[in-house]
Amino acid sequence: MTPRLILIPLLALMSLAGASAAWAQDKGTVDAKPLPPLANPNDPKIGAKELFGRKVLPAAMPTRVLGFYAHGCIAGAEGLPINGDTWQVMRLSRNRYWAHPDMVALIKRLAGKARKDAGWPGILIGDMSQPRGGPMFTGHASHQVGLDADIWLTPMPNRTLSRNEREEMSAVMMVRDDRLDVDPRVFTPGHLAVIRDAAQEPTVQRIFVNAAIKRALCREAKGNRSWLSKVRPMYGHDYHFHIRIKCPPGSGECDGQPDPAEGEGCAVKDLAYWFKDSVLHPKPPKTPPKPKPPMTMASLPPACKAVLAAPDAKQ
Ligand SMILES: [Zn+2]
Repeated sequence: MTPRLILIPLLALMSLAGASAAWAQDKGTVDAKPLPPLANPNDPKIGAKELFGRKVLPAAMPTRVLGFYAHGCIAGAEGLPINGDTWQVMRLSRNRYWAHPDMVALIKRLAGKARKDAGWPGILIGDMSQPRGGPMFTGHASHQVGLDADIWLTPMPNRTLSRNEREEMSAVMMVRDDRLDVDPRVFTPGHLAVIRDAAQEPTVQRIFVNAAIKRALCREAKGNRSWLSKVRPMYGHDYHFHIRIKCPPGSGECDGQPDPAEGEGCAVKDLAYWFKDSVLHPKPPKTPPKPKPPMTMASLPPACKAVLAAPDAKQ
């Protein structure tokens, strides 16, 4: 994926409607305009992202996780404060710094550990979920239920970033040009420590990183390496890593997924798929794939309708 390096007004970005991705390195704007109201919000064929993308605040309801990471929503989400002693939230214009309270607490804890264990001033937080979760206009298939969060693989600078810097600053590319390993000029033991801290948290189920980063972690991790089983190679994730937590206790309407298989996943055969030429340098298809119709409310748990209809939570 080629990073988009020009400033695109949020509305234009949104009009691409899922044809594009919003990764850590994609820029936002300080001049985000609210989306125009929908002509037919009750049309059952309308994309659920149109409905969830217009919600500015969480639903004033007790916290409930409804559905699966890639098709669901959340009631009673909590906002991560945009500034902490050891974290700052990036790309505020996307309004994706909402999550289950357990995830918010986890991020705060990991931010403190990054200072202690990696010597970083703190961490930069990318996308979590929308205020009521649900599908998004750009970027992620998951991040829909408040249990996913992206952390930049770039230490927080030792100062408060401006509003503009939070939209414009780029994360650092960790992967070497040939895509076979990390770039040793930028990937440091601190990166390993931050990822390891996250993987060692009992509520964390999976961490997604680029395969080259997984290869580097496999080579460099010392001591107890059992946490490596949670770190999974995934497309993208060259500039950030992704933390996924399990369904929190008492979330009976949350669809979880099985824990990853035990084992470090570091054998040559475990990573071979990701370093095949066809995966590293995929050929563009001869005929462009037909755009998929957007996910509608019918694909989400029925209770997500009540989440959309609820009044805004007071902040
Ligand atoms: Zn992510």
